Amino acid sequence: MQLRYAFRVYPNGPQRSALARAFGCARVVFNDALRVRETARAAGLAFVTSGELSKQLTVAKNTPERAWLAEVSAVVLQQSLRDLDTAYRNFFDGLKGRRPMMGPPRFKSRKDTRQAIRFTANARWKITPGGDLSLPKIGDVRVKWSRALPSVPSTVTVIKDGAGRYFASFVVETDPEILPEVEPVTGLDLGLGHFAVLSDGRKIGAPRFLRRAEKKLKRAQQALSRKARGSKNREKARHRVARSHARVADARREFHHQLSTRLMCENQVVAVENLAVKGLARTRMAKSVHDAGWSAFVSMLEYKAAKFGRTLIRIGRFEPTSQVCSACGVKDGPKPLNIRVWRCPACRVWLDRDINAAVNIAKAAGLAVSACRAQIRPGLVPAQREEAGTHRDGHPTVAGTPGC
Ligand SMILES: [Zn+2]
Repeated sequence: MQLRYAFRVYPNGPQRSALARAFGCARVVFNDALRVRETARAAGLAFVTSGELSKQLTVAKNTPERAWLAEVSAVVLQQSLRDLDTAYRNFFDGLKGRRPMMGPPRFKSRKDTRQAIRFTANARWKITPGGDLSLPKIGDVRVKWSRALPSVPSTVTVIKDGAGRYFASFVVETDPEILPEVEPVTGLDLGLGHFAVLSDGRKIGAPRFLRRAEKKLKRAQQALSRKARGSKNREKARHRVARSHARVADARREFHHQLSTRLMCENQVVAVENLAVKGLARTRMAKSVHDAGWSAFVSMLEYKAAKFGRTLIRIGRFEPTSQVCSACGVKDGPKPLNIRVWRCPACRVWLDRDINAAVNIAKAAGLAVSACRAQIRPGLVPAQREEAGTHRDGHPTVAGTPGC
C-alpha cells in the first residue's frame, strides 16, 4: 500500500527563489491548460485531451512569452497538467454521484495559501548521502528527518503552506502491518459536542493541546481585526494569524492520528456514518464541520484499517440514528437537538443521545454490539453533562459512563 510521509524542509535563499519560480510556472501551466479547456467548452468543442495539452505546452516553451518555463524541471510542469486532470475527474465523478459534489477546477492564484510542485521518479530527484533532498534546478535542500522512510519513495511533493513553511511529502510503498485479531467492534458517532462518541459509551473530546492552539488562533484573529487597514502592524498580525492557523491544523492532524491509531488498534471493526461531508458543509453547520475535520479523520481511519488489517464500515447517511431506541429497536420519531437524554417509551431504558447514535451506527453496519455498557441503566437519574478534564499528556478526553 502507498503511504505519505511528510517532513519539514529548510531551503536557503536562492533555493526559496527557485521554488517560488517553480510554483509560479506550475501555476501558469495549470491555468493555461484550464483556459484551453474552458474555451473549447464555451465554443461547444470536444474535451481537449491531456496529450493535446502536453503538445501545446511544448510549443509554448518555444515562444518568447513562455520561454521561462524552461527554467523549471519539465516533470513539474507535466505533473501540473496531471493535477488538472485529477481536478476534472473529481468534478465529473461528483456529477455522476460517485463522490461528494464539488465545483469545476478553478484558476490558481499567486495568493493561494498552499503552493505545491511534484517530482516523480523520472525527474531524477534524490536523497543525497548527506541526507539532503536534491531537486532538479533547485538544489540540495536540508531536510529535518523526524522518522525513517520504510522504503525508497517514488515521488516527492514540495509544499509551501500559509505560514511560509516548506514541507517535502514522499509517497512510499509499504507493507501492511497486520495486527493480531481482536474482539471489539465499535460504532462511532462524530458530533459537535464531543469529537466522537463510541458505542461502548466513551466520549472523546478535543485534547488540551488542540484547544489551546484554537484559543491562541482566536486571540490572533481578534488582534488582527483591531489593526488599521494597510498598516505595517496589520501585516504583522496577518502573519501571526497564518502561523496560528498552521499550528491548529498541525495539532488537529496530530489528534486525528493518535485517535485513529488507537481506535484501529483496539477494534477489529469500526463503523462510522457516511457523512457526505461536502453536502453537510454547505449548510449553516459549515464552520463546525470544517473545524472538526471529520472527513480527514475518516480517511485516516480508512488507511489505517488497510494498514493494520482491520475493517472500516461506512453506513448510509440517512439512518435515523437518534430516532430509534438502540436497546429494543422501537422508533419513536425525531427529537429536538436540545434533548440529550430520554427514556424509551417501550422498554423504559434511559438513552443518551450520542451513545444511542453510536450503538445504532454499529448495528446498522451489522455489528453485534451489546448496548449494556453503552446505555444508562433503567432507574438511574441521568448525570449532568459536564466539561471533562484533559490529561496532562494531551491524550483525548475520555469521560466515564454513568452506571457502567
Ligand atoms: Zn427501547
